[in-house]
Amino acid sequence: MFEQLANLPTSFSLRACWLFPGICGAVADATVTIHAGRIVSLSKADAIAPVIDLGDVVLLPGLINAHTHLEFSELPAPLGQPGMALPDWIQLVVAWRRERTGGPGAGIAAGIGESLAGGVTALGEIATEGWALPHAAPPGYVTAFRESIGLSPERAAMCLDASRGFLGASEVAGYLPGLSPHAPYTVRPELLADLVALATETHVPVAMHVAESREELELLRDGRGAMVDMLTELGAWRADAIPPGARPMDSLRVLAQAPRTLVIHGNYLDDEELDFLAEHGDRMSLVYCPRTHDYFRHAPYHDLAKLSKRGVRVCLGTDSRASNPDLDLLAELRFVAQRAPHLPGESILALATTNAASALGIESECGAIAVGRRADLCVLRTSLSAARDPFELIWDANATVEALLIAGKLFQGGPGPAKRAT
Ligand SMILES: [Zn+2]
Repeated sequence: MFEQLANLPTSFSLRACWLFPGICGAVADATVTIHAGRIVSLSKADAIAPVIDLGDVVLLPGLINAHTHLEFSELPAPLGQPGMALPDWIQLVVAWRRERTGGPGAGIAAGIGESLAGGVTALGEIATEGWALPHAAPPGYVTAFRESIGLSPERAAMCLDASRGFLGASEVAGYLPGLSPHAPYTVRPELLADLVALATETHVPVAMHVAESREELELLRDGRGAMVDMLTELGAWRADAIPPGARPMDSLRVLAQAPRTLVIHGNYLDDEELDFLAEHGDRMSLVYCPRTHDYFRHAPYHDLAKLSKRGVRVCLGTDSRASNPDLDLLAELRFVAQRAPHLPGESILALATTNAASALGIESECGAIAVGRRADLCVLRTSLSAARDPFELIWDANATVEALLIAGKLFQGGPGPAKRAT
């Protein structure tokens, strides 16, 4: 297939057995016509020569990973053990970072390579100290959220300055900028308000880990517990930073003022907080990281069908290789399909396509195979030739990404790196 897709002309059509546009169900025997990197027609009648017949494959919109930390992408296995408490795992992350030689660059490059091989055409990345984009990254591939951790006024001031610099550097460096106040238990409320104000002023999205663990809720409510012990040990705890009786809703109210907010995890959000996300569904999204959630053995995740009925927009993230065996977004989709068999296939695919694009604010360009969008296409070969529900072709355990087009150009082809069993 490679030869057929190498050196593509400005205008061409692709034919495939199945097409999943992302905004509606499956289309059999489909034709997509592309001109100058954009999709111009999905009608057979409009086909333009050369018409490249891809044969018995599935065409999907390029997948969008809404949340990851690429710096950990060289890790061969997650840190710690399944089911461990989040504060203990954070200690391992801090220790690993201290021992790492050479900064985050190699991990970021490895993670981008793995994401391209896995059919991902856009991703939401948390950028920490020393973060930089490798030259091999396609322009605009990464939405980079500059992370801030600051419970003291001094650290908060430094974070705000660094965040301004990060936004200013984005155009030359080739990433789409965003801001990430890390979590309600590591960011003083004043810093959160300042970062959200900066995001609003500069029209960039915000990503924050919220209600991830029970220990976080305990810290916010009572100012004590394992999370406080961990922060104290790291010398980062400030007892006066967070007012007593705080809860995730306090952060959500501030975050709702940003143009777009990704609420990462939200594992322990209550009904009122989920309703708040639904009320602000034009700008707020919840990011579910299925296999990371499973790794920590959190309480069962919110029922996805009920979330959707409620009006909460949900998208998927892999999180990092520090809590997940790989960055395979198809494996996340498969995980969801296996555990929520009654959820329509269209709704599952939306988690990694249309919903994720809206979460990141790139929905006018990405997330669907539709006229006017950028021609970001994932070519999937599956072992099933006929499935009762065509979406089963995507969740097929043997499905492999054969090729990836970004803006109508071949970016990645051939078998991806060997994957560990999940
Ligand atoms: Zn994360």
